[in-house]
Amino acid sequence: MCVTLESTESRPRLSPSELTAEVKRRARGLGFQKVGVVRAEALTEERARLEEWLARGFQASMAWMERGVERRTDPRELLDGARSVVAVALNYYTPHEHARDPAAGKISRYAWGDDYHDVLGEKLKALLAHVRQLAPEVQGKVCVDAQPSMDKAWAVRAGLGWIGKHTNLITRDYGSWVFLGELILDAEMEYDGAREEDHCGTCTLCIDSCPTRAIVEPYVVDSNLCISHATIELRDAELPPAVASSLDGWLYGCDVCQDVCPWNRFEQPSEETRFEPRPGALAPALGEVADLSHDVYVERFRRSPVKRAKLSGLRRNARTLLGRAGKTGEE
Ligand code: SF4
Repeated sequence: MCVTLESTESRPRLSPSELTAEVKRRARGLGFQKVGVVRAEALTEERARLEEWLARGFQASMAWMERGVERRTDPRELLDGARSVVAVALNYYTPHEHARDPAAGKISRYAWGDDYHDVLGEKLKALLAHVRQLAPEVQGKVCVDAQPSMDKAWAVRAGLGWIGKHTNLITRDYGSWVFLGELILDAEMEYDGAREEDHCGTCTLCIDSCPTRAIVEPYVVDSNLCISHATIELRDAELPPAVASSLDGWLYGCDVCQDVCPWNRFEQPSEETRFEPRPGALAPALGEVADLSHDVYVERFRRSPVKRAKLSGLRRNARTLLGRAGKTGEE
């Protein structure tokens, strides 16, 4: 479809199917590998599962997850008059390996390059700008992790993939190395109905491989045991002993459950160069990180996802890996 319009006044309104086709075409042009559109409605089943998970205390230190459950599970709370949710996935896999040197730490793949909030946010804002150019009356809201939106739930509803037993979204054609985001619009669109089936089958590799047994049952992660949670979110606290003794080189995050997943044999190099590892991201020297100064930290991790752990968390992680945790004056 080609939409050529001279002015707002003379512009005919796009039909739901025309708007949907335009949004999908532009989303692919912006580099999103997957895009699906679903009706903006309350995530009732997903909310029940979230509340059960919270009731079991599996959010650990992430108390913010307990707040605003209503907003988190209903896009109409985020945008007045929301009618549609455009769910997108962006491949971030780059063909590099984690450090094997015991003097170096491992950083989760998603954090090797530039901050995905910036990259994804920029693309979704461009998508919204395109919509507003075609249909100035349409209002929209960009959601990239920082907003209280259930990215994985929308991706599933939009048919982008399924939730694996490790609780990450898996796509058939790119594996699980994808960032997720949404564009909420107050316009009616044409909706994708078909969800991807669960293709985990009898596999339990992620459950069996988790160093801390954090996947306590299929599709349920206890963050209290999760290396990612501990090394990223526990910025100022001690690492739980069960995690500290099983870090296996993880300085920031952990990819074990995704590394072992057979669906990641379909991983493909990302075309987004901003996800290429920054200098030093593949094998950061633990000795350096353990004694990192504030100035060097700010400079080195500017616009990097690694900043989420804060300097205190990074230094603690490095010192734990070096066997220096808890030494007087070091934590
Ligand atoms: S490792 Fe196996 S069980 Fe786990 S998410 Fe992948 S396919 Fe599913």
